[in-house]
Amino acid sequence: MSDVDVPESHPRYESLLTRHRIEEGVEKGITSQQGLIAQGRGEAFDYLLGEQTTESAERAEQAAAAHLLLADHPVLSVNGNVAALVPEEIVELAEVTGADLEVNLFNRTEERIEAIAEHLHEHGASEVKGLTADGRIPGIDHERAKVDADGIGDADVVVVPLEDGDRAEALGEIGKTEIVVDLNPLSRSAQVAAVPIVDNVIRAVPNVTAYARELQGHSETELRAIVDEFDPNETLAAAERAIRGGDVNIGGQ
Ligand code: ATP
Repeated sequence: MSDVDVPESHPRYESLLTRHRIEEGVEKGITSQQGLIAQGRGEAFDYLLGEQTTESAERAEQAAAAHLLLADHPVLSVNGNVAALVPEEIVELAEVTGADLEVNLFNRTEERIEAIAEHLHEHGASEVKGLTADGRIPGIDHERAKVDADGIGDADVVVVPLEDGDRAEALGEIGKTEIVVDLNPLSRSAQVAAVPIVDNVIRAVPNVTAYARELQGHSETELRAIVDEFDPNETLAAAERAIRGGDVNIGGQ
């Protein structure tokens, strides 16, 4: 048993635990009501993927780690779902890759940003950006354009798990290398990413951290080779094939 009253042997354990964390996130004021809907959409895709990391997602996770290690200024964007689902894991990824953490919300309120920053501090973060909001992403409406000038505004590589399509597109247009985590390979965010990771953020974030640890001692040439070999279109096509044609085999059912 864990913090949720479901035995670990339950075939849908991970899915139920995820749901429970999102509910708690809403109760704590860190996850929005829309976050619940996003969770539901994600669950459906994850079910079709067999709730496991595919080989092509593994390659994307490795490429993401190489990008983060090569970056001058990597930033990990955190929204209400990410904060509820993987607070410790995202803080650990930031530590291992030397990235900044920045809270970024679709429905921005100072209160929720502060609650998320506090939640990340409770899970070990030393600095959390997102409250200064003195930078703007051109081409999108005022509230959603806000970023920290010395955070995402200055980043060369950004990890935007569960980002909305408009902002993902706008970030790409101003030259950021985007790593997107999204279970829907057809979502615009996944389509515009340099590295689309079609995997549950619960599995993706620790996997990227593990790859970053493994690749830490590698030369710049080796890391560049991993980045150059990665093909986002191939990854998206493989994910779509898995979803449309895969065998669902959850918990041996
Ligand atoms: P777009 O504008 O990019 O097409 P959207 O508006 O369809 O996106 P939302 O409704 O905001 O997207 O949903 C968020 C996305 O996040 C969905 O595509 C969903 O599959 C994905 N998602 C939800 N939960 C998770 C999760 N735990 N891990 C990975 N992806 C997730």
